[in-house]
Amino acid sequence: MTIKNNLRIGIGFLFALAFISSALAAFYIYQLSADAKATLRDNYDSLVFSKNIDEALDLPNIPPLVQQQIIEKNILDEEGNITEPGEKKFADTLYANFVAFTKASNDPMKRAICRANMKIADYGIMAVNMKAIKFRNKIANDHARTAIIDVIALDILCLFVALAFFLRFPVYITDPIHKFSAGIREIANKNYKQRILLTSLDEFGDLAQSFNQMAARLYEYDNSSQARIRFEQLRINAIVKNVTDAIIGFEEEGTVVFANPVALKLLGLNESEIIGRFATDVAAENDLLAKLLSEDESAGDLRLYLDGAECYFSRELFEINAPDEGLFNKSRRSRIGYFILLKNITRFYQLDEAKTSFIATISHELKTPIGSLKMSLKMLEDERFGITNPFQKELIKNIDDDSDRLLKITSELLDMGQVETGKMLLNFGSTHPQNIIKYTYETIKVLARQKELKVKITCSKRLPEVWADLDKTTWVLINFLSNAIKYSPSGGVIELSVKKHPSKMIEFSVRDYGPGIEETYLPRVFERYFKVPDPGSNISGTGLGLAIAKDFIEAQGGQIGLESSVDTGSRFYFLLPVSLI
Ligand code: ADP
Repeated sequence: MTIKNNLRIGIGFLFALAFISSALAAFYIYQLSADAKATLRDNYDSLVFSKNIDEALDLPNIPPLVQQQIIEKNILDEEGNITEPGEKKFADTLYANFVAFTKASNDPMKRAICRANMKIADYGIMAVNMKAIKFRNKIANDHARTAIIDVIALDILCLFVALAFFLRFPVYITDPIHKFSAGIREIANKNYKQRILLTSLDEFGDLAQSFNQMAARLYEYDNSSQARIRFEQLRINAIVKNVTDAIIGFEEEGTVVFANPVALKLLGLNESEIIGRFATDVAAENDLLAKLLSEDESAGDLRLYLDGAECYFSRELFEINAPDEGLFNKSRRSRIGYFILLKNITRFYQLDEAKTSFIATISHELKTPIGSLKMSLKMLEDERFGITNPFQKELIKNIDDDSDRLLKITSELLDMGQVETGKMLLNFGSTHPQNIIKYTYETIKVLARQKELKVKITCSKRLPEVWADLDKTTWVLINFLSNAIKYSPSGGVIELSVKKHPSKMIEFSVRDYGPGIEETYLPRVFERYFKVPDPGSNISGTGLGLAIAKDFIEAQGGQIGLESSVDTGSRFYFLLPVSLI
C-alpha cells in the first residue's frame, strides 16, 4: 500500500474513532436528557397535581366552591397525564369520590368518607409516580454508566491507535530514508554493488527498485569502462614494448613507473632493478640514467650500444598532465609525471653519413675540373695565345666569376663534410688579431670596392694575441664580411672591429647597416642550410657559411653570435681565447 494511502487510512481511522466517540457521547447525553425530560413530564407533573389536590383537601378555610374548583382542575390535569400502570385506576377512583364529595354537600359524614377515599387515591397516584421516578432514575444511572464506559473504551482505543501511529509512523518514514542516504553515500564512494533492500509495496519500495536499477547500470558502465581502460592499457603497453625507441616513465615525485625493453637494454638493467625505485637512486649507480635525467639539452644526440651495434638516440622529455579536478577551474592541468623518450635516430645518422660522404666525394671530384677550368680561362686571358675581342673578354670574365662561385661552394661543402665527419684538423698558434684583420681585409677589399663600400677597421695594437687557427678564423671573418657586403646597400659603411670582451676573450665583429634579420629567424641563422626567407631577393648562397663558422669557432674554444634587427642592420661577432704563450 502506498504511503499516501497509509497516511489516509491512519489519519482517517483516528478521525473516525474520534467522531464515533463524540457521537456516542452526544447520543448518551441526549438519552439522559430525554430520560430527565420524560421523568419531569410524566411523573413530576403528576406529583404536583397530587400535591395540589392534597393541599386543597387539607385547607379548611377556603370557600368550598374554590376548593372544589382547585381539586377538579388538578384531577382533570392528572387524568390527562396518565403514564404509569395502575395510575388510571387511582385517578378514576379519585374522580368518582370527588363527584360524590361535591354531591354530598349536606352530608358531612359522606363528605368525610369521600375525602378520605380521595386522599387514599391521591396518595396512590403519588406512590405510583414516586416508584416510577425511582425506576427512571435507576435507568438513567445505568445509561450514564454505559455512556461513561463506552466513551472511555472508545477514547482508550483512540489513544492506542494514536500512540501506535505516533510511534510507528516516524520510523516508517525515517527507516527507508536512512537506508537511502547510506546507499547514496556508497554510490558516491563508487561502490556500485550497493543495493537497498525494501520490499514494501509503497513509494519507498518503488524508489528502492529505481535506486537498485541505477546502481546496476552504474556498475555495468563502470565495469565496461574499466574493461575498456584495461584494454587500452594493454594496447599501449604492447606499443611501448615493441617500439624501437626507448621509453622510461616517471611519477612526479621521481619514482620510475615503467621502462620498455629497449630502455632496459640500453641501461643494462632488468625491471626489478629500476621499476618502483627512485630515479635518483638508480642514477647514482647508472651513468646513462644520470645523463638522461640531467637537464643539459646541449649534450646533443647520444651514441649508445644496442645489441652490440652502435646506435644514435635523441633525448626528449615529455610531461604527463592531468586535468585538475578542482571544482571551479576545470581547465587547469597539473603535472602528474613525465617520461623520457630516446628516439632511435641511427637510420638518420646513417643517411646523413651517406649524404656527407656523397657531398664530400662530389665536391672533391668537382674541384679538379674547376681547377682546370680556371687554368684554361687564365690561358684564354693570356694575349700570348691569341687576342680576344671585348665580347669574348666579357664572356671569359663571367665564366671566371661563375667558376669562382663554384669553387667557393665546393670548398664550403668540403669544409662541411670535414666538420660533419669530425675530420676537421685545427692548426693552433698564437696570432695577433691585427694579422687576422689584415689578411681578411686583403681578401675582401676588392669585393667591397666593387660595391663602393667603406670598411672601417678598429683594431688596437695593444690587444693581446689570440690562440687560434689562423686559416679557419680568417675564413669565418671573411664569411662575415662577404655577407655584410652582400647585404649592405652600395656606398654604405661596414665596421670591422676587434676589442677586449668583458669575459677576457677577444671579440671580432662585423657590423653592417643592411636590412637586418627578423627576430624570429635569429635562433636559426647558424643552422645548416638555413637562409632567411626573402622571396624578392636574388642573392645566392648555400646557407652553410654561418653553420661552418660556428663549428670552426666552437672547435677553437670560442663563442659565436649576432645582434640584428630589421632596418638597423646586423652585427656578427665571435670571441676567441687569449694566447697564454
Ligand atoms: P649564405 O651562403 O646563404 O650567405 P650563410 O650561412 O652565410 O649562408 O648565411 C645564412 C643566412 O643568413 C643568409 O642566407 C642570410 O639570409 C642571412 N644573413 C647572413 N648574413 C647576413 C647579413 N649580414 N645581413 C642580413 N642577413 C644575413
